[in-house]
Amino acid sequence: MGLGGIGIAFRRCSPSFLSMRFGACHQPRFTSAVMFSHQMSTNAESVAARLNSAGFIRSQGFIGGKWTDAYDGKTIEVCNPATGGVITNVSCMGGRETNDAIASAHETFLSWSKLTAAERSKRLRKWYELIMDHKDELGQLMTLEQGKPLKEAIGEVSYGASFIEFYAEEAKRVYGDIIPAAMSDRRLFVLKQPVGVVGAITPWNFPLAMITRKVAPALACGCTVVVKPSELTPLTALAAAELSIQAGIPPGAVNVVMGNASDIGDALLASPQVRKITFTGSTAVGKKLMAGAAGTVKKVSLELGGNAPCIIFDDADLDVALKGTLATKFRNSGQTCVCANRVLVQEGIYDKFASAFSKAVEDMKVGDGFGEGVGQGPLINDAAVRKVESFVEDAISKGAKVLIGGKKHSLGMTFYEPTVIADVKSEMLLSREEVFGPVAPLLKFKTEEDAIRMANDTNAGLAAYIFTSSIQRSWRVSEALEYGLVGVNEGIISTEVAPFGGMKQSGLGREGSKYGMDEYLEIKYVCLGNMN
Ligand code: NAP
Repeated sequence: MGLGGIGIAFRRCSPSFLSMRFGACHQPRFTSAVMFSHQMSTNAESVAARLNSAGFIRSQGFIGGKWTDAYDGKTIEVCNPATGGVITNVSCMGGRETNDAIASAHETFLSWSKLTAAERSKRLRKWYELIMDHKDELGQLMTLEQGKPLKEAIGEVSYGASFIEFYAEEAKRVYGDIIPAAMSDRRLFVLKQPVGVVGAITPWNFPLAMITRKVAPALACGCTVVVKPSELTPLTALAAAELSIQAGIPPGAVNVVMGNASDIGDALLASPQVRKITFTGSTAVGKKLMAGAAGTVKKVSLELGGNAPCIIFDDADLDVALKGTLATKFRNSGQTCVCANRVLVQEGIYDKFASAFSKAVEDMKVGDGFGEGVGQGPLINDAAVRKVESFVEDAISKGAKVLIGGKKHSLGMTFYEPTVIADVKSEMLLSREEVFGPVAPLLKFKTEEDAIRMANDTNAGLAAYIFTSSIQRSWRVSEALEYGLVGVNEGIISTEVAPFGGMKQSGLGREGSKYGMDEYLEIKYVCLGNMN
């Protein structure tokens, strides 16, 4: 990237160290006693050192095209969840830095929105190419800070970049309308125009794709953006921001601030210059942001939590169902909003599925994301492990049976065993809430109607999966499911060309595809009168 690196000191993220140095700016990630593999730490350190000397590890926020420290000098540690090692310290920003980022985005909006669509498209395309040219380095950076296996991380880089490529093309297709007028001396038009400055708040589980899925359509429409990545995974976002400048996207069009989430969020919500809030994350925070956006009546889109049912019918092809369920459940250690949260299995195939699925899960290799053949990395932090443990305990206490796994992995840290639990019932936490971990709860059902009722028995409505050999059933059930996305005989269905988003409390609006552009556009009606 041709940038000066920063000094990296390898330490462990320890609670005493954190509270000493960072006070309110830091949430301790690792608080439990851990076993720690020296080999793992050494690999990660050498990758980090290489990325640092190549300029991929940035420690400052990005405001108006300038790398900027927090105004009070505070920093936060970014840790590797597989080893607990500190990768670097980044600026811990708040409201003042966010206000400056908004001002810069607003100023740049005036010129960026005036460029031709073709010109914006060219620069987005260049950004896509630069990200793809550096997909290995960005993937390594992602594995370092997020923990997902390297192959999966590089896959996310390509997936994330695909939104930029898609919206570089879509920039040229922001069409308006001409409406036949009711009066003969009038001509009526509809223009679509960029909404303005966008505040984009993103989670840690997809450190690149959740950003590009928002920033690419925003830029394509002519908007400018203030991005707030999760404090847990800001490094991939900062590297992508640097590449945006190299691609010719002007300073101020993409700003990145990270640190104190509620101060940054409040500044974005309070500013009348921010015309749109786009958020991916938990339903609780999404609701707060939606309420906060009311003060200045901003446009809002929300991609929130899920509780995905994965329904296996008796007539399913067992191999297809096994492969699809494994993919949707265990990707990213179960930490995605579209991961199967409940596996509903029809009674005729239940025992056969449970035994074959447990065998496949048992064969999964757990380890550091840089390890050869690793299919499952660590969870993001101790809090995530505690949540998984409490859900599993709740299920066992209410009569569920662990078939495989069910406890922390012998590797220590935040590794958790890939787990299958049978005899799960609707009232257990595993059915009611998003576990966000590598636990597959199996629930038995009798009829198609039962499956639909059980699947829809939740406030969430993001993704659902069905496995069946019947074309009629696949249509019937897809139509009956109250979900924004349905995978039929397929466990991984997200793509830049299709709309992604939830029903009920899983969110508002859609990302990806042609529909994703509408979120960043205002519709303006123009009436030309006295035309005779
Ligand atoms: P989260 O706690 O809601 O955090 C998401 C983002 O919001 C982070 O950047 C976080 O900052 C920030 N944040 C937290 N409190 C805030 C506040 N008061 N004001 C403004 N920003 C605030 O969610 P998470 O734990 O990172 O992510 C997991 C959740 O995201 C799951 O529920 C998952 O289902 C959902 N998700 C949904 C989708 C989808 O497309 N529907 C995709 C991926 C994930 P800090 O991290 O810096 O605190």
